[in-house]
Amino acid sequence: MATNVTIEVRGNRCERCGHEWIPREGAEPRVCPKCKSPYWNKPRQKKRERMDQK
Ligand SMILES: [Zn+2]
Repeated sequence: MATNVTIEVRGNRCERCGHEWIPREGAEPRVCPKCKSPYWNKPRQKKRERMDQK
């Protein structure tokens, strides 16, 4: 059976490799500890909506 775990703690999830980890307090990692991607918290944009914001 598949393990179904709901993470309710403040965790980080890499948008690149899907890695999830618990960050240390007061320090948000700049890169994913697994794939070392600096864009782990920045989902890739599907559409160009640069004019959406003022
Ligand atoms: Zn990653």
